[in-house]
Amino acid sequence: MTEIIDGNAVASEIRDDLTDAIETLAEAGSRPGLATVLMGDDPASQTYVNMKQRDCEEVGIESHHVDVDGDADPEVLYDAIADLNDDPEIHGYIVQAPVPDHVDYREVIRRVDPAKDVDGFHPENVGRLVAGDARFRPCTPHGVQKLLESADIDLEGKDVTIVGRSDIVGKPLANLLIQKADDGNATVTVCHSRTEDLATKTRNADIVVAAAGAPELVDGSMIGDGAVVIDVGVNRVSADTEKGYELVGDVEFESAKAKASAITPVPGGVGPMTRAMLLYNTVKAAGLQEDVAVDLP
Ligand code: NAD
Repeated sequence: MTEIIDGNAVASEIRDDLTDAIETLAEAGSRPGLATVLMGDDPASQTYVNMKQRDCEEVGIESHHVDVDGDADPEVLYDAIADLNDDPEIHGYIVQAPVPDHVDYREVIRRVDPAKDVDGFHPENVGRLVAGDARFRPCTPHGVQKLLESADIDLEGKDVTIVGRSDIVGKPLANLLIQKADDGNATVTVCHSRTEDLATKTRNADIVVAAAGAPELVDGSMIGDGAVVIDVGVNRVSADTEKGYELVGDVEFESAKAKASAITPVPGGVGPMTRAMLLYNTVKAAGLQEDVAVDLP
């Protein structure tokens, strides 16, 4: 029987544990604050931001939101960032990607105070992660690690193939999984759009993580018998539904499930974990800034 790794259940446990940490902070007179910044009115981004706000309310994190007009000068966004950097009630914030084309996202990230960079994208935080001294693990890769841990998958000496080399998923996940650590110690192959013979690289892996943004790219023929499959992909494909689309992962679920020992579904796999780990980073940021020792899950 293939185990279906339930991201909703694992995320819910993490949120429960965070509630205790938030109580510890409250006893010390502090309430963690997370802000979201949205430039423009991309509907998918709006949905993500709304979900993040709701998640905060649920666990007792104070949520704040800043809207910036999509046509505004980049300086307007930079000013909003500077205000958040100075605001003691904001322990962490994220600038929702993508930003409009006339704004340089890298410059945006460089302006975020690394101590409040709960996405973990600032060069200082990327450097710390690579050096094995992460302050904030980026939410999606951290969520993948927690899912593997929840399914009792020991990574030591395992071959992991990651499909995708983005700065937010593939690269940080590869760096985390090769760390000399209990949730690392794997041998990692990182594939991307120029990789030749992707199928051989996935088929030879004990664990396959698909993060390519390509609907159902990885099918059962590309999975070795008994492998673990983690599907990060979230793709909207047109379908005869009320919304006119449905969400599919980067893995062809049924054929991959037939080969795998464990697999994450889409939705209900990595997605809820990403959201939970943002809350985790916010609580961590609050603990560090308020100098309160908090127990993190
Ligand atoms: P991205 O577009 O920045 O990067 C995609 C990567 O996949 C690139 O490195 C590219 O080289 C590689 N790639 C694309 N097509 C490929 C192919 N045919 N063969 C091999 N490699 C290929 O995407 P991203 O931001 O890393 O996101 C990847 C996917 O994960 C998307 O579907 C995104 O929506 C989803 N995502 C989900 C969550 C979540 O919480 N579930 C979080 C972040 C991203």
